[in-house]
Amino acid sequence: MMHRIMVCAAFCTSLANAAPAAIDTERLSSIVRELASDEYEGRAPGTPGGRKTVEYLVEQFGALGLEPGGADGGWTHNVPMIHTLFEEPPRLRFIVDGEPQALEQKADIEASTVHAVDAIAIDAPVVFVGFGAHAPERDWDDYGDIDLDGKVALYLVNDPDFAAEPGEPVAGRFGNRRMTYYGRWAYKFEEAARRGAVAALVIHETEAAGYGWNVASSSPGENYAVVSADEPVPPVLLQGWLHGDAAAALMQSAGYDLDALRTRARSPDFEAFEMEGVSFAADVAVAVDHFESSNVLAILPGDAHPDEIIMVSAHWDAYGIGEPDEQGRTVRPGANDDALGIAGLLEIARVLKAGPPLERSVVFAAWTAEESGLLGSAAYAKNPVYPLEKTVANLTLDILNTAGPARDVVLVGEGQSELEDDLARAAAAQGRRVTPESLPENGLFYRADHFSLARGGVPVLLLMQIAGAADLVEGGREAGKQWIDDYIGNCYHQTCDAWDADWDLRGAAQDMELFRAIIEDLGNSRRWPQWKAGSEFKAVRDQSAGVRREQ
Ligand SMILES: [Zn+2]
Repeated sequence: MMHRIMVCAAFCTSLANAAPAAIDTERLSSIVRELASDEYEGRAPGTPGGRKTVEYLVEQFGALGLEPGGADGGWTHNVPMIHTLFEEPPRLRFIVDGEPQALEQKADIEASTVHAVDAIAIDAPVVFVGFGAHAPERDWDDYGDIDLDGKVALYLVNDPDFAAEPGEPVAGRFGNRRMTYYGRWAYKFEEAARRGAVAALVIHETEAAGYGWNVASSSPGENYAVVSADEPVPPVLLQGWLHGDAAAALMQSAGYDLDALRTRARSPDFEAFEMEGVSFAADVAVAVDHFESSNVLAILPGDAHPDEIIMVSAHWDAYGIGEPDEQGRTVRPGANDDALGIAGLLEIARVLKAGPPLERSVVFAAWTAEESGLLGSAAYAKNPVYPLEKTVANLTLDILNTAGPARDVVLVGEGQSELEDDLARAAAAQGRRVTPESLPENGLFYRADHFSLARGGVPVLLLMQIAGAADLVEGGREAGKQWIDDYIGNCYHQTCDAWDADWDLRGAAQDMELFRAIIEDLGNSRRWPQWKAGSEFKAVRDQSAGVRREQ
């Protein structure tokens, strides 16, 4: 024993340096433990906990020997934002034939605003717009001749063929169970705004939304927005979710049947209609805070083609402080969502820095305000530090498996870009295979920060374990499904998403190693992965094809 210790004393350091660096599960755990601790207060943008997170990230990237990758040679990229909060108690109600029906915030409705106003007063007719899709390329339009100007638009969640039976005319028109962008609340609010609506409400259904009312209503009356001087279409004044039971009760009292309307809205003949005798009213005082939050960016410059950027990202923000849970916890620490992704960024950075330099640059982007609507990444895509045309790819980590190694990796958004072939190669090298997401109806391809970059044309790859059950080495697919059900049912966006000493992070580390392998491969190549034919993002990328050369 003594002899071995003596040998180690002489050679340990050089032996450790000789071994190739690998993602270290203990480091991942300790980073998550730090960021998910109460001192960071759930990392809400614009709070002391949010600022502490930015400081921590700058310090960590600096300690790893990376260079500042933000605006003007600094570490950050500023995102001017507003935070809005409805003051208690907001008066929200439907009025049916002159009779008010009060709506209780959080129980019946989750309403908020992204406008910097100190009060909202609405009293306007309600238009039922069905799924509210205007999709000429799919030969579908729910609006017809309806005028939404100054009105309240009431939407069904998901897209028109989500619940269609085989053989119905709509079946397959919107990718069957796979959610398209038309199914997302973000699209519905945008479309309502384009048509001049004053408010938009989406009727919540757990299966079609992809998450329960507990998630939809987790921040009642609260919202964030990026301050932008040149917003071509101002958003609706009030937006939110209506509980399915409240919607059914409204319909019944107004002489409609919600189930029948759902079926009718799947018909190509469906057209939006103003609900007779029904209006929606809101009298709300709003508290508005203006503040700046920051994306944090670090760069490992390439030694041959430093202007060609491979971007890997995660979001640093979480849900801040909320109502106490049964154990009295108020901090929603976002340990998996997405402190673990941030830990992955730092670990990938450490491992790449320890290896030989790459020809292309790698940018590590820690976004703010993802949970508020992908705001940090969207602000970046609008005003990028590195031109999007020369950004080779964006690789995003957001919620990884904490139940141990897996035999597969779940692909989100099958058929979108050639990066899925890179993923398949990297997975095969690990002895794993690619499994398409099992819950494409949840539309996760449109629900994380990579989407902001995709809209700007950058090919993207997202690893998000809630997109489908992993085939776990211990317990197989069944255990992977159990993990997702537990996470989404109990922890997602809640106080329970906390650091846990019992996490088995070997599966998450495998996923991070996939990104590391893809980065190393692309980093020493002149290859520009393409969007596949049929992707809605191909056209915008193709416009800048001239600036990218293979040689
Ligand atoms: Zn997330």
